[in-house]
Amino acid sequence: MVTSIGGPRVLLRQLRETMAEPLASQERLDKIVSLIAENMRADVCSFYVLRDDGALELFATKGLAKESVHMTTLRLGEGLVGLIAAEAEPLSLDDAPSHPAFAYRPETGEDRYFAFLGVPVLRAGQTLGVLVVQNVERRKYGEDETEAMLTTATILAEMIATSDFDNLIKPGSDIDLRRPRMYTGVSFTDGIALGTVVLHDPRVVVTNFIAEDTEQEKLRLESALEKMRVSIDAMLDHGDMQPSSDHREILETYRMFANDRGWVHRLTEAIDNGLSAEAAVERVQNDTRARMLRQTDPYIRDRLHDLDDLANRLLRVLTGDGHALGRKELPENAILVARNMGPAELLEYDRTKLRGVVLEEGGATAHVAIVARSLGLVAVGQAQSIVSMCETGDEIIIDGTAGIVHLRPTPDIEQAYVDKVRVSARRRAHYAALKDKPSITKDGVEITLLHNSGLVADLPMLDDTGASGVGLFRTELQFMIASRLPRLPEQMELYAEAMAIAGDRPVVFRLLDIGGDKVLPYLRSAQEENPAMGYRSIRLGLDRPGLLRTQIRALLMAANGRPLKILVPMVTETFEFLQTRMVVQKEIERLRRAGKPTPSRLELGAMVEVPSLLFELDQLLPEADFVSIGSNDLVQFLTASDRANPRVSKNYDPIALPRLRAIRMVVEAAKRYNIPITMCGELAGKPLEALALMAIGMTRLSMGPASIGPIKEMVLNLDLKPIQQSVGAALSEGADGATIRQLLQEWIDKQNLPV
Ligand code: PEP
Ligand code: MG
Repeated sequence: MVTSIGGPRVLLRQLRETMAEPLASQERLDKIVSLIAENMRADVCSFYVLRDDGALELFATKGLAKESVHMTTLRLGEGLVGLIAAEAEPLSLDDAPSHPAFAYRPETGEDRYFAFLGVPVLRAGQTLGVLVVQNVERRKYGEDETEAMLTTATILAEMIATSDFDNLIKPGSDIDLRRPRMYTGVSFTDGIALGTVVLHDPRVVVTNFIAEDTEQEKLRLESALEKMRVSIDAMLDHGDMQPSSDHREILETYRMFANDRGWVHRLTEAIDNGLSAEAAVERVQNDTRARMLRQTDPYIRDRLHDLDDLANRLLRVLTGDGHALGRKELPENAILVARNMGPAELLEYDRTKLRGVVLEEGGATAHVAIVARSLGLVAVGQAQSIVSMCETGDEIIIDGTAGIVHLRPTPDIEQAYVDKVRVSARRRAHYAALKDKPSITKDGVEITLLHNSGLVADLPMLDDTGASGVGLFRTELQFMIASRLPRLPEQMELYAEAMAIAGDRPVVFRLLDIGGDKVLPYLRSAQEENPAMGYRSIRLGLDRPGLLRTQIRALLMAANGRPLKILVPMVTETFEFLQTRMVVQKEIERLRRAGKPTPSRLELGAMVEVPSLLFELDQLLPEADFVSIGSNDLVQFLTASDRANPRVSKNYDPIALPRLRAIRMVVEAAKRYNIPITMCGELAGKPLEALALMAIGMTRLSMGPASIGPIKEMVLNLDLKPIQQSVGAALSEGADGATIRQLLQEWIDKQNLPV
């Protein structure tokens, strides 16, 4: 076996000195490859950089013909270098020219060299380039040398990411890392946003790559690992974590990795090779990432996320870095990019600067998507692997309507979107022109359009859309942005303000629907296996009557003698509704006794969103003043598919026969009891789905403010009765092989509806 001169530590020290010297980029690279060749006792050392056009350009060489630098290129997958780049794996050969992938480039004079060792230069698991050493003699490079080359490649990756190679690379090209990228995800909200990336969970930037003192670095690593283990144990013991069902499992996985000897051993080995503790974490995580990214198994990809989180945690401990960017200080036109986040986390940001959100996960009816909609943000979910490809400060465009994200857009894409924004401004103006027209179909059916809202700040939009009122005010959103539980006077003020802005337009205040993914950070809750079906909403309200009473009291006092509508969420059995009504009545009596004004008319409604209630409508409806269907939860529970998990929820069309039949059951029962019924789930805001609802006799639709214009335009152009007959027949007799969606699409085409 060949040993290197002085080993990798000496090499890293030399590299550090070279980086600090005042050299031009090319000179520096030339010196670096010479140092590597000398240290590895290699006849050749070459460094290739991956360009944005997919070519690997020879950037520097010691040993190959100098004229080939910046001239020789290989495509990804072509030749040994292209193979290493494509597979992100090292390759060691003692007879390179006989390898089937060997591609001979005569200008390099490469055919004389038999021994070959190439390693990928990786960052966040993505290939940025390839580093190669070669020898004339046939010999096998050992594992230690591969390890040393990988360590050196960590430094080169950093150099590629931070150096300016503009004057070296082929004119008109850029390095692959900064290539424009497009992601196709799922639309959470309509609209277009152009702005700047802000990583919700910023990567820790490692600046100190090379160890001064290896033993010292090992001690730092050991103490950071210990700190991290203790904090994970503490989180597990105290349970003061987000009560999501997966959270505990994730922490358990962290704990497993944090104690994994293989992982710790690889970290220590990287330090032995001369890296600082933080660079060792980055180096090991890079290799793991590269391997795991090439796996399609969703389970392994999930574990990759866990490992990423853990590595980031460890880096934070090592570098003493909190969040690099304070949550509150955002640039103008900020666009948050995250793997996933809860609605409360989104609400923490400064809403005046935020334009959009891009998530790698999430579903369109997840609460974070709902909150994004209610904040008027443009949002796209399921943009796979975007987090590792962007940096805070990158330019980004979200096309919410198409569910597409452009990262670092080219100037022509940007121009196209600037034009699109102008067109959509014209569309908005077009919708605004409809706002005073009565919302009646061509054949005379009146459709009441209402807002879903949750923040007082959204309410002035009523004037812009011309909606008749607020069909669902999610009161919990205000609780989620507060730093502590809002007290009676604060709540009262808030509801009074909402009513004042709405004026004569009714507002349906829904009682607190916390629990599930709607977490109040200041309200401690026990860990639950299944929070969406757990201790939440009115269940919690009735169990902690103080909270419920305070909210009802605040609403009654805010109404100050005016009419008031209150909606009870998550009613599972009629008695829960009746108990809530008793609390309301007691509060009214109390006001009366105190000589304070009581609402001139009080209406108490029930949400129909738990399937069991479908079979108790004859008990519930005579007691209720109105009902509102929450399709988000109803469909989630009917199909037993988590609304926030697209892997399952996307498989079940909410307007397929069984679901639409269930919704129709409620509509018809409400007609029999002559009480108003509204749809306030996300279905109401999507044109085709809204058409399905109108087709089964629903005439009150509550939706995000941005949907009012498009839905109203459809209503104004609609001949509803024939569609009602056709859908009615399909629901009773089956849709003849076609889906309800296809049937409606035919009607949309036939009536040329603007959908
Ligand atoms: C629903 O479940 O459809 C609903 C409107 O309530 P939320 O989305 O707040 O659960
Ligand atoms: Mg609900």
